[in-house]
Amino acid sequence: MVSGDLFVQGNAFLGEEFELSSVTIVVSNGKITAVEEECDRHGPWICPAFFNAHTHVGDTVAMDLPVSGTLEELVTPPDGLKHRILARTPRDRLIEGMRASIRTMYETGTAGFADFREGGPEGIMSLMDAAEGIPCSPVLFGRDGGEKHGRGLGISGARDVPDIDEKVQQARAMGKQIAFHAGERDSLDIDQAISYDPDMLIHCTHATRPQLAECAEREIPIVICPRSNWRLGVTSSPEHPPVSLMYEVGCTVLLGTDNVMFVQPDMWQEMAFMSAVYRSAPRDILRSAVGGSSVFGEEFLIKKGNPARFFIIDPHISNMRFSHDPCKTVVNRAGAVNIVKKVFSS
Ligand SMILES: [Zn+2]
Repeated sequence: MVSGDLFVQGNAFLGEEFELSSVTIVVSNGKITAVEEECDRHGPWICPAFFNAHTHVGDTVAMDLPVSGTLEELVTPPDGLKHRILARTPRDRLIEGMRASIRTMYETGTAGFADFREGGPEGIMSLMDAAEGIPCSPVLFGRDGGEKHGRGLGISGARDVPDIDEKVQQARAMGKQIAFHAGERDSLDIDQAISYDPDMLIHCTHATRPQLAECAEREIPIVICPRSNWRLGVTSSPEHPPVSLMYEVGCTVLLGTDNVMFVQPDMWQEMAFMSAVYRSAPRDILRSAVGGSSVFGEEFLIKKGNPARFFIIDPHISNMRFSHDPCKTVVNRAGAVNIVKKVFSS
C-alpha cells in the first residue's frame, strides 16, 4: 500500500458473474491491486464500465437528418446517403462530431468502443485525433487501407464488397483482425462471412440456428445492435435478432449501438431496450454491455490485476435504494445521471 492508492468501498458487481459483493477495491497506478471482502452492505453500487462493441461515430455529423429509405440507400457504401455526407463534410467538422460522441460515451459510463471507420487511413487518423485525451479508448476497424493503422479490417457486408478474398488475406498477413457486418437484412451473407473465420460478426439479425451454432463452435463473438435494427426497419419482432437462441447455443453476445446518425451511443438505453424487447436475463445483458472489453483484450471486469475501469452509482440518492435486485435495476432503470464517480484509468 502506497500513498496515492485509491480505496473504493461498496457493493461491486464482481468478476465474470457480476456477483454483487460488499468489498473495498484498491487501485494503484490505474490497476486493481486488491479486492477485499467487507460486511457493510449499505454502500454504493460499483459497476464495471461498458464497452460499446459496435459504433460508427464518423456519421455523428448526419445525426437525425430527416431521411427515409432502405438500408442500401442510407448506409451501404459507396453511394449510400451517409457516405455522400461524409465525403462532403470538412475534416474539422467530422472530428468535432466524433469527439462529441466519444465524450458522450465517456459521460454515459463507456470506457472503450469498437468502431467501423470509413475513409481509409485518413479516417482512422482523424478518429484517433478525435479521441485524444478522453478516457474512452477506441478499437478501430478500417477499410480501404485504414485497416493497416487500426486493429483490423471492418467489412461492410460480404455481398457489398468486391475482392474480399484478397482484402482478408492482406489484413491477415499484417496480423490484423477481421470483422463483418452480416445478417442484417437476411441470412444470405452470413455463411460467406463465417467462411473467412472472422474475429467478430456484427448484427446476425436474421441468423439461423445452424449459423449461430457455427459461430458458437468457432467462438466468433456476435455484436447485436437492437435499437439500430428496429430504427432501420430490419426487424419488427423479438425473434430478430434471435437473442434467446444465441444464448441457448452458447454464442458470445456483445452489445453495440451502431450508427450515431440514427442511435445515441448510450449503453444504458441499449440495455433497457434489450431487456424490454428481448427479455434477456439482466446478468446476460450486463455481460453483453461489458464483455467487448474482454474480447478486445482490455478487460473491464472488476477483479484483481485488471485495469481500473468502473463507476459508482449511489442508490441512496435516488429511488433505486428501494431495489430488491440491483443488477436488474442497473440494467432496466439506471442512466448516466446516476453515476456519481468514474474511475477510468487510461
Ligand atoms: Zn455497423
